Amino acid sequence: MKALIIGSGIAGPSAAMALQQAGIDSVVYEAHASGADGVGVFLTLGSNGIDALRVIGADAPAVAAGFPTPAIDMVSTTGKALGTVHTSRPDGDIASRTLKRADLYRAVRDEALRRGIRIEQGKRLVDAQDTGDGVRAVFADGSEEFGDLLIGCDGLHSTVRKLIDPAAAAPAYSGLIGLGGYTRGVPVDSQVGSYRMVFGKRAFFGYVPAPDGEVWWFANLPHRDEPARGELEGVGAEQWRSRLVELFAEDTGPAAELVRASQEITSASPMHAMVDLPAWHRGRMIVIGDAAHAPSPTSGQGASLSVEDAVELARALRDLPTIEGAFTAYDALRRPRVERIVKQAARVNNNKAAGPVGRVLRDLVMPVLLPRLANGEQSRRTYGHHIDWTTPMAAAEGVGTARN
Ligand SMILES: Cc1cc2nc3c(=O)[nH]c(=O)nc-3n(C[C@H](O)[C@H](O)[C@H](O)COP(=O)(O)OP(=O)(O)OC[C@H]3O[C@@H](n4cnc5c(N)ncnc54)[C@H](O)[C@@H]3O)c2cc1C
Repeated sequence: MKALIIGSGIAGPSAAMALQQAGIDSVVYEAHASGADGVGVFLTLGSNGIDALRVIGADAPAVAAGFPTPAIDMVSTTGKALGTVHTSRPDGDIASRTLKRADLYRAVRDEALRRGIRIEQGKRLVDAQDTGDGVRAVFADGSEEFGDLLIGCDGLHSTVRKLIDPAAAAPAYSGLIGLGGYTRGVPVDSQVGSYRMVFGKRAFFGYVPAPDGEVWWFANLPHRDEPARGELEGVGAEQWRSRLVELFAEDTGPAAELVRASQEITSASPMHAMVDLPAWHRGRMIVIGDAAHAPSPTSGQGASLSVEDAVELARALRDLPTIEGAFTAYDALRRPRVERIVKQAARVNNNKAAGPVGRVLRDLVMPVLLPRLANGEQSRRTYGHHIDWTTPMAAAEGVGTARN
């Protein structure tokens, strides 16, 4: 069996490695000619994502590229502690890690290449057809490739998703735009590796001191209408600096100072989410990762879910007799888990974009709700998730189970 994998972000190389471990050949096709997509932005790879990489023996390079971030302290507009989210696996064996998105891309791609997996850069998929006994992929350079199945790992604005279901809704804009930066020389009140996230009066701010003394920060700003394509790219770092300093001027904490002294401010992007996509697969084509179910960056889970998807899809293809049977079993297994996480992040986004009345309510409700969300069953299920690679996947494994 040969799989055509579209996209060399996080899901793509992870899927290729997991398929190889399952005895299935694949080739990865990436639109960009170089692998530097996402330079600047950082993210958290959850303990569940590291665990999923460990299942395919590929966790070490990603772990080495980041630093441990076991906790997030949440703070209200007035500086009141709202609670702490623990982001390590409940048994303490694996801590979540913070790393630059480009370093995570590089870590998974280089590990896949080291294992002999073919990754072709500069190959943008524009069309694909299920021919009944195989699948034909067509690229922007006019070339074609044939395989037994096609896996769309092509992210939020997926082409494969539209080929599977031309009527599929576009990802929903969350009402927020996000950007970040890196600052040296400003002392902060948080331990190395621990995030502090503040529901500011006019925008949301998070920061984490890295082991080398730099402080990594991000901001989420309410922005009612979805920015037009190119609109945010036209705003320079210095314009963002003065806008953010003004937005955070009245908040407690070091937000304004961190922005003012920042050595680097990344470009801004609108935050989207994709939930309830009805068709993840059709015939011999399937989407996984952000192409199927992007949680907004708020969840801190997009990358981790992408790796989990890759490993579970390979397990389904290894164990079930037909491609469609494997896709159906995979869908039933994964859907409840990813949709729970995507919806939870959407609720937090609403609080980030709250108006004056919403802010008062949020600060009353959060101290009660957050400890339950952060340290209870939900958190245990998110960060403690483990894939049992050795157990054969049954067609009905995901039906009626509570393990998601
Ligand atoms: C600002 C920001 C902060 C984030 N923070 C976090 C966080 O803290 N934790 C977390 O887990 N996640 C976070 N995320 C989300 C995370 O980056 C994504 O969930 C993750 O990258 C999804 O992986 P993927 O492989 O599905 O898609 P992507 O990483 O988007 O990769 C898709 C790849 O497909 C390629 N491609 C697209 N179209 C085509 C085509 N037609 N043909 C060929 N190739 C194509 C793209 O070039 C890209 O390389 C954040 C995202 C952003 C933007």
